[in-house]
Amino acid sequence: MIRGNDPILLTPGPLTTSLQTKQAMLRDWGSWDAAFNQMTASICKDLVDIVGGGSEYVCVPLQGSGTFSVEAAIGNVVPPASRGGKVLVPNNGAYCARILKICKYLGRAAVELPVAEDTPATAAVVDAALAQDPSITHVAQVHCETGAGILNDLAGIAQVCARRKVGLIIDAMSSFAALPIDVQSVPFDALIAASGKCLEGVPGMGFVIMKKSVVEGCAGNAHSLAMDLHDQYVYMQKTTQWRYTPPTHVVAALRAAIDQFKDEGGQGARLARYTANCRTLVDGMQALGFRTYLKPEVQAPVIVTFHAPADAAYEFKQFYAAVRARGYILYPGKLTQVETFRVGCIGAIDSNEMRNVVGAVEQSLRDLGIRVVTPAAPRRAA
Ligand SMILES: *Cc1c(COP(=O)(O)O)cnc(C)c1O
Repeated sequence: MIRGNDPILLTPGPLTTSLQTKQAMLRDWGSWDAAFNQMTASICKDLVDIVGGGSEYVCVPLQGSGTFSVEAAIGNVVPPASRGGKVLVPNNGAYCARILKICKYLGRAAVELPVAEDTPATAAVVDAALAQDPSITHVAQVHCETGAGILNDLAGIAQVCARRKVGLIIDAMSSFAALPIDVQSVPFDALIAASGKCLEGVPGMGFVIMKKSVVEGCAGNAHSLAMDLHDQYVYMQKTTQWRYTPPTHVVAALRAAIDQFKDEGGQGARLARYTANCRTLVDGMQALGFRTYLKPEVQAPVIVTFHAPADAAYEFKQFYAAVRARGYILYPGKLTQVETFRVGCIGAIDSNEMRNVVGAVEQSLRDLGIRVVTPAAPRRAA
């Protein structure tokens, strides 16, 4: 694993990338050039392969951060309310809430299904919500809710959607390429992810893997020209080019990152590395007295939420600065009820790095005079 002078990012994107991925950006590409367009096509093919999509699914890349692609997917796949579209959004965290906000902006009818932040969305609750409102046409499900780091029951929810003939849109931003998703067991209309998360590319592009029949059928749905996935797809089919300027360096870095992903052994190997990272982190932090917010059985090996220490000397900003001075960038908590902070397990890092993280945290606690690490009464979200 590569370690320069820069701090290691323990965040859920952008994350630490390998030297090889960074070096892939030392070249300028023409957007009309056949070599560049072949690179885009090869990336799209590899991304569809990761979910076993065969010829039934296609990948439509889109410029921008992950949220741009989530917004595009909702705007393209769900017809406007005036034409009967209505989307159910199980909500157990910040990224689910963002989908609801997107629906509001775009004028897409949405039904919120509230779920506690420390509890996974399950097939049973989604099934009950769909039974209650037969006018719902789609479910928008976040796979790993990065807010707390919880893993939702995607496979169970996908089966419910298939049985009820409701479209499924998956925000797999922080799980794609690390956690298993296969169209055989998880059939979907659209799945959204991005270059700068578990694929370990740099940020700057998202993509939507869509059922071919879905993208072909969504002409005229888009609320926005720049976000029109149908148009991007049709144009790319016709010309092999991106509509509008592509993020060329990001694409080149993603090509290199996917090559390394394959060399590592694909999704299974990536999951194994992240799982080892997560276990090393949690074991080490627990030995220092920290407590995780989530129960281990619902924790995805992507990002871990820890309760803040009980000690009055603890203050996140100072703690962050102390750990940063030792080479690691932590992430603030994103929960509404309890004080927490988060540590990412993803990126071009291994469990040796995670052991060093625990060491950096231990030294920082000592320097800041934080003695009581265990939270007074470990609370779970209501
Ligand atoms: C990172 C992430 C996004 C997208 O966030 P951006 O900041 O726009 O890249 C969306 N959903 C989930 C679950 C995420 O983890």
